[in-house]
Amino acid sequence: MRDGATIAAISTAVSSAGIGIVRMSGPEAFFIADRIYRSKGDKKLSEQRSHTIHYGYIMDQEVTVDEVLVMLMRGPHSYTGEDTVEINCHGGVYVVKRILEILIENGARPAEPGEFTKRAFLNGRLDLSQAEAVGDLIAAQNQYALQSSVSQLKGSIKNEINDIRNKIIYHTAFIETALDDPEHISVDGYGEELRGVVEKMSARIGRLLESFNNGRLMKEGIRTVILGRPNAGKSSLMNILLGEDRAIVTDIAGTTRDVLEEHLNLSGISLNIMDTAGIRETKDIVERIGVDRAKEQAQQADLILYVIDSSKDLDENDREIFRLIQGKKAIILLNKSDLSMKVTKEIVRKAYVSLNVVSDINLSKNEGNIANSNKSDNNENGKNAFILPIIEVSARSLRGIDELEDNLKKMFFAGNLSFNNEIYITNVRHKNELSGALEALERVKESIDAGMPEDFYSIDLMDAYEKLGNITGETMGEDLVNEIFSKFCMGK
Ligand code: GDP
Repeated sequence: MRDGATIAAISTAVSSAGIGIVRMSGPEAFFIADRIYRSKGDKKLSEQRSHTIHYGYIMDQEVTVDEVLVMLMRGPHSYTGEDTVEINCHGGVYVVKRILEILIENGARPAEPGEFTKRAFLNGRLDLSQAEAVGDLIAAQNQYALQSSVSQLKGSIKNEINDIRNKIIYHTAFIETALDDPEHISVDGYGEELRGVVEKMSARIGRLLESFNNGRLMKEGIRTVILGRPNAGKSSLMNILLGEDRAIVTDIAGTTRDVLEEHLNLSGISLNIMDTAGIRETKDIVERIGVDRAKEQAQQADLILYVIDSSKDLDENDREIFRLIQGKKAIILLNKSDLSMKVTKEIVRKAYVSLNVVSDINLSKNEGNIANSNKSDNNENGKNAFILPIIEVSARSLRGIDELEDNLKKMFFAGNLSFNNEIYITNVRHKNELSGALEALERVKESIDAGMPEDFYSIDLMDAYEKLGNITGETMGEDLVNEIFSKFCMGK
């Protein structure tokens, strides 16, 4: 995986900007910098101290290319762990590209995406979970995603995983030693002791796995789908939430034929809002496709905003939507409440109950309290006993919009995400490895319960050890490491 080359790349976005940074890392970095840098005192960068900044010019032979500041960091005290030179130049597209070309003409090789971070990983500066956190930090779209990636970058996942792995290796070593030396080390009663240890480890892994749902919502945003009959005011409401005119609003039913997706930041949470074609029975083929797609989106949504035109009676199409939102987190919006309302909260409740979807008691008890609704999503009959807020709104008078926003904030993370001691798993890869490790630990417990010989325990313990090691990158194959870093952006 290591080729010993000195690599270079533009590390800032390539567009007109005040400053651009071209970064170079590897054994030749300081010498290449010497060849292309001039300053008043004719100093040689390779003779300067680490962590110093130097003012001067980048030269293309005898032609001055730019006036720059050059930052020097000697390995191992640099991001990559290697000698690193960062050239702060002017941020014009041509000038940064030209400086990169000059570095390459003088012996550097263009870096691949993520190669600086890959070197940091290979040189032991970061473990894989931290390296992935760097990618997440760059991609963070909101406050929570940012906080979560910073906590992972500081090593929150690494520390937890390493602690569990250390316990596993201790017990595996004990088993091996005891089996080698049965005369001196007794394994009587050890199974019971190990069972307790394994249970504790499983609980820790279980907690990490449980954090994944919130972790995913933080990182990717809440998939929010707006459903409702044509002309209920879906596009109008979406525009209000976004504060801009994106979706087309018209009086002709069926104008939103495809799914529009927009991103909204609300108190540090991202909502990925999808406006959909209105749900109605239709013979128009294009509209039909839109309706089917809306239904598909609804299946995958984390949240459904169901918009009802309260100035018109409910009909069969509403029944269809009631069925769609079964078992989902949803908010019912009685829109057009500025007009005379034919549909009230009470009517919605009755209609819902008449579908036999949810009992009357649950609806009235839970309305308006949607925080912590995860656990009550399904009652024992598989019907949704979830909490279903109904809010009177108007896209015209803006009535109820604040209430809607408040509900949205409370609905997820119960309104109080904290990062004090919690670790959030945000990466599917980590989740899969954790699930694998948990299964392996389950097998250890089964072996203990079945009274199997001790060497059976260590096989599955080592399996869990390896799966957890894949998260930190300790037991990871080269191909996978390459694949992970290839997803990074250029210059990182
Ligand atoms: P969609 O088909 O559900 O996306 O509905 P639109 O957002 O395109 O709205 C359909 C029509 O209803 C438009 O003429 C809107 O101006 C109108 N409309 C939307 N919301 C309200 C509202 O709260 N009050 C009133 N009076 N009209 C509304």
